[in-house]
Amino acid sequence: MAAKLKVGIIGGGYAGMAAAVELAAAGIPVTVFESAKQLGGRARGVDYHDTQIDNGQHLLLGCYRETLRLIELVGGDIERDFLRLPLQLDLHHHLELRAPRLPAPLHLLLALLNAKGLNWQERIKAARFMLALRAMDFRLPQDTTVAELLRQHGQDAGLILKFWEPLTIAALNTPIAKASAQVLLNVLRDALNRKRADSDMLLPRIDFTSLFPQRAATFVERHGGKVHLSCAVEAIVPNGDTLALQTAQGTQQFSHVICAASSTTAERLLRLLAGLDDTAQQIAALEQQPIYTVYLQYPAQVQLPHPMIGLHQRISQWLFDKGRIAGQHGLLAAVISAEGIHQELGQEALAQKVAVELREEFGIVEVPLWSKVIAEKRATFCCAPNLQRPAARTAIPNLLLAGDYTAGDYPATLEGAVLSGVDCARRCLPGRK
Ligand SMILES: Cc1cc2nc3c(=O)[nH]c(=O)nc-3n(C[C@H](O)[C@H](O)[C@H](O)COP(=O)(O)OP(=O)(O)OC[C@H]3O[C@@H](n4cnc5c(N)ncnc54)[C@H](O)[C@@H]3O)c2cc1C
Repeated sequence: MAAKLKVGIIGGGYAGMAAAVELAAAGIPVTVFESAKQLGGRARGVDYHDTQIDNGQHLLLGCYRETLRLIELVGGDIERDFLRLPLQLDLHHHLELRAPRLPAPLHLLLALLNAKGLNWQERIKAARFMLALRAMDFRLPQDTTVAELLRQHGQDAGLILKFWEPLTIAALNTPIAKASAQVLLNVLRDALNRKRADSDMLLPRIDFTSLFPQRAATFVERHGGKVHLSCAVEAIVPNGDTLALQTAQGTQQFSHVICAASSTTAERLLRLLAGLDDTAQQIAALEQQPIYTVYLQYPAQVQLPHPMIGLHQRISQWLFDKGRIAGQHGLLAAVISAEGIHQELGQEALAQKVAVELREEFGIVEVPLWSKVIAEKRATFCCAPNLQRPAARTAIPNLLLAGDYTAGDYPATLEGAVLSGVDCARRCLPGRK
């Protein structure tokens, strides 16, 4: 039975490579088609000025179980590949919250009650709110915006600005007035409520193409599969029980196809297929949010006080010291998530603005040797309440959809992408629908 299966995967991002590894490990022949010259999609390594950077500064959480499992399966070593930090939120001079080494959720409650930068009332309100969410099993009877949920639970303006807003934007890449409260609660449930290690923050020491997709490709090829780079799928053509994938290099037939391309490509490919209009429209309706990353290479002695530190009411939201994280001394990255006024600045002006903020906040007077702004304008879908995300199954039974934007508990994250890829792979296995 398994011998007849042959799966084509469109897209070599985290979702596509997760599907490929899962199938290859089960002995199913897979072929991955990736349009770019390299794997990784929205989580990829970039070479700039002989320096290895990423298209964005990614952070994993300890609760990203499937991503961590697959990284290990393909030969990664979590403790070597990441700097692991226990849950901590530092907004320079405005908030300092650190979780003690106690079981969850006690670690969070104590972190909130001892947080520097919040007054007693704010700390108690935040802790009470967390307990109320736990009592509700992190489930809302009706989804709403994060801003509305915080209002319902009496969270003060200062507490929102210093704690809930940065947390929501970091987790959902969506402003609190637009963000789904239920999806935020899903993340809080998985990260904060089970084991203490689930809330650990994992900062990569290697680039995101090397971390998983590249190793996954080696794993897939060792198991008899194929990975084609610079090979865009131009059309999916139903052909009896099989599906053909057309590329400029030729056409191949598959028993199943997993479309793990970005939502824009998926919509374009599906729109051409009979019976998939509704799915294509559902995908087209997803709004997108940007993420900007500003890299500044300073002389090697320049450092931040911590590997990761936030700024309060500045353009730069989170700063990463790549020297402390990965030994890339003097390389700092500023992350600006979701829509905002920074989009009105040109790239040079934005880099200068970040350098000024670094000087004002940390007294860094050195001039950067170079800077690089990477603007991912369609970084993630806008994670709005009650969002209708497309299911893995489509009206064509052997055509499945994977990707961070497909239906699931998580916002657009690596774990969401990986979970969807693994789910699609399992649906291709005999006995699964
Ligand atoms: C700047 C930035 C920062 C982020 N930070 C975090 C973070 O800290 N933590 C976190 O968990 N998540 C983060 N994310 C989100 C995370 O990167 C994404 O959720 C995840 O990478 C999506 O993976 P995917 O496989 O679903 O899609 P993609 O990565 O978009 O993969 C789709 C792939 O399909 C390929 N493709 C497109 N068209 C075709 C075609 N016609 N034929 C073949 N291949 C095609 C693309 O080239 C791409 O490689 C961030 C995203 C960005 C952009």
